[in-house]
Formats: sequence, structure tokens, C-alpha cells
Amino acid sequence: MGGSATTLIFGSYVLARRNGAQEVLRDHWVLLEGDRIAAITPSRPAGADRVFDRPGRFILPGLLNLHNHCFSEAVARTHTEDGAGRKNNQSIVYTVLLPLTKLGIEILTPAERMDVARLGILQLLKGGAATVMEPFRNGIPEMFDAALEMGIRFYGAPYLFSTANAQADGGGVVRYASNAAGGEDGSVDLQTWDRLYASWEGRGEGRIRLAMSPHATDTCGPDLLRAAAARARELDAPITIHLAQSKSEVATIRSRYGDRTPAEYLDWLGVLEPDLLAAHCIDCTDDDLALMGARGAAVLNCPRVFARAGTTAAFSRFAGHGVRTLVGTDGYNMDLLGELNAAAMISKVASGRADAASAPELIDAVTTQAAAAIKRPDLGEIRPGATADLTVVDLSHPHLQPLFDPRRALIWLANRANVDMVVVDGKVLIEAGRYAGGDEEAITAAGAAAIGKIWALPEAQAAFNN
Ligand SMILES: [Zn+2]
Repeated sequence: MGGSATTLIFGSYVLARRNGAQEVLRDHWVLLEGDRIAAITPSRPAGADRVFDRPGRFILPGLLNLHNHCFSEAVARTHTEDGAGRKNNQSIVYTVLLPLTKLGIEILTPAERMDVARLGILQLLKGGAATVMEPFRNGIPEMFDAALEMGIRFYGAPYLFSTANAQADGGGVVRYASNAAGGEDGSVDLQTWDRLYASWEGRGEGRIRLAMSPHATDTCGPDLLRAAAARARELDAPITIHLAQSKSEVATIRSRYGDRTPAEYLDWLGVLEPDLLAAHCIDCTDDDLALMGARGAAVLNCPRVFARAGTTAAFSRFAGHGVRTLVGTDGYNMDLLGELNAAAMISKVASGRADAASAPELIDAVTTQAAAAIKRPDLGEIRPGATADLTVVDLSHPHLQPLFDPRRALIWLANRANVDMVVVDGKVLIEAGRYAGGDEEAITAAGAAAIGKIWALPEAQAAFNN
């Protein structure tokens, strides 16, 4: 397909915008020309190179899933549900996910790491995402190779740590390797990030980008956080971090930094700005959320990974404080439609209100709001001149017919199996629900075999069986 090839897609429903608000158009054609949206029209334009004319399709802007972890999700898969792998009902981040991922990266060959990365990107695409932001260990640069090869829009976020081997003690407190009082050895990770930036930023016609990714408030000291934020702002790269994801993190930060909450800690360092995307924020106080709203930082709400462990992460709580709130799948499944359904359900249960976290609000969270958080007005919207990223959902399935409101159908009834197409830069990556660029079964088998090598490690057996 050449640079100006044209693709024409029929939508029984097309999500457009009018005067800043969502508008669902009935029976329109979306014409893509090269990597741009050329037109949205009720009459069929003539002469397109490729035509997709199927009934019951809902054409959405390419969805943005701005927080996921392909690699550690695969490592932990079916080993940590139902409370497995947990000590004293503590978070599994420091006991299972980080140590096992680190070990796994070390024992796999580059080709095996590539197999895992491909499996992850395949899941993200089949989960409906056109754009992802993936925080990952900087020892798996193959995430970039897989994203480039498979065509997804990718904000790679290789981690920075102030400690080379983040592990929590029995009380959940992370100790730095060099200095238990909070010393730093994080300049190494910043240099690695710079190297990755130099080799990857802007590749794939600009689809591959980097985000600055200090791992969390309790694994990154003040000097590293200041330096990372300054570097990101020099390059105009988004910044993402895990924030207030557990009570032990809050206690650690309060004891280290003059009784500040994790959000206050970031604000004290000048990190809490509109370019910050903060994952989870579960243990943020109401005052913290008001502060984040005032600073313009965004919350990445990933409700299912917390629901799985018995914790409520309600989209409506964050949005209700005026914080820009996005939805991501984190380290649990990569079904963005399923995640939106959970975000709606959990918000209603938590708030006791049936009108909390409405379908249009949640659709905005993974389209226009997400695009704004990474300063990409060309994404998240279907209009002439916008980038040709689309997610098309097949609403013709029996559980989706008859249909009165397609947006409610999308949030309340649809799931990943109904994703019909994912288009990035005008290229059709998912077609009729299948990956168009390769053999799904082979990618799945190779990724599973590589993860199997990690599961066979004695350290993995011990972590999973405690
Ligand atoms: Zn995360």
C-alpha cells in the first residue's frame, strides 16, 4: 500500500464530534487517504483502493490504552488470581511482578523476549487499542522492535529506578540498594533511557515514541525524579509513573519526606504537571485528587487489576474531583472494552449512582481525553485531517441486536471479541477480528513457550507457591 492509498469503511454508526461534544452519525462512510482521514460522508465516495462495506459496524477513533504491562502480565497470568502469590494480602508488585520479570528478562534470549513482546502487542491490538503506552523493564528493548514490526502506535516507557533491584521488605517498604535512607543510583537508568530515545524516538513514520517512566514514588528518589522530569520537558515527552498504588507506598513516602503524601511529594519536586500520567492513585486522599486536578495531571484508572484483589478503583471518584481520568488495562488482560465495562460497573457500585461514569464519558476517556493528555490533537477524533487511526466494533452479534444506543452497547454489552478492525496510520492491522500482519497461532505459541521458561525457574515456583 503506497503513501496515498485510499481505504473506505462503512459505518452504520460513526463517532464524530460537533461543537466539542460526541455525535453519532448514522450510515456514513469514512475515507482514509494515506495516513490521514480524508472525509466522513453519507454518500459513498468512488474509487477507493480498499473498501470495507459490512453492516452493523461502529467506527470509533483509534482507542488509546495508555497503561499496560504485556510482559509482567504474561509472567503472572493465572498464577496470582484468587489471592495466589500474595503475602499478608499485600500487593504482588514487589513480591512477584518486578523480581520475576527481571529474572525472566535475564534468562531469555533476545529472540525469546521478542516472542513475548509480539504476543503482548497482538493482545493489545486485539483488545481494541490503536495507541498504547507500555511501561516496561529497560532490559526488554524488544518491546520497541515488536511494536515497530506490528504497526501499533507505541509510547514505550522504559522504567527508571533509584535502585537496581526493587524489592520490598516484609512491611512493604522498598529499600534502595545503595542507601537504605533513600539514596540514589538512578542515573544509570536515565542514561539507558537516553540511549533508547536516541535509537527509537520517531521511528515507524513517528508511530514509535518514548515516555519518561520513573517507576513509582517509592522506587525513585527526589534527584532522579527531578532529573527525569527536566529531561522529559526538554524533549516534550510525556511522563508516566505509578502513584499511591498501595498503603505501604504512602507510608514509605510519608516517613521519608516530611509526612508528604505521594502526590504532595511529586508536587514538591515539580513533577505534578499536565504532562504527568499517574497510574492508579488508589490511596490518594481527596485533597491529593483536588491538587492533581488543579495541576492538570491525569489519572490512569485501571479498575480490574484492583478489583481482582478486592480493591475499589472507581473512575467516578477521580473524575468527580475534576482530574482528567483515562482508562488502561495495566497488568491484567488487554481487553480495553472489558476494562471500560468494569470502570462503569465499579463506579456505579462505589458511588451508589446509576448515572456515574456514563458511556460517553468513558469513551472520551480512551479517545479525546487520552489524546489530550499526551498532546496529540490529531488522535482520538474522527474528522478530516486527523490521523487515520480507527477502532471498528462489530455490533451485528446476537448479544448486540437489536440496538438503540451504540455507545451504551459498546460499554455495557460489547467485548474484545467484537473488535472488527484496528487501523493505524491508515494501515489495517486487525481485519475481521484477526491480525492481518502474521500468524496469530504461531505468535501465541512462541510467546507462551518463552514464558514457560520463566515459569520453570525455581524462583518462579517459589514465588507462585508461597
Ligand atoms: Zn502499572
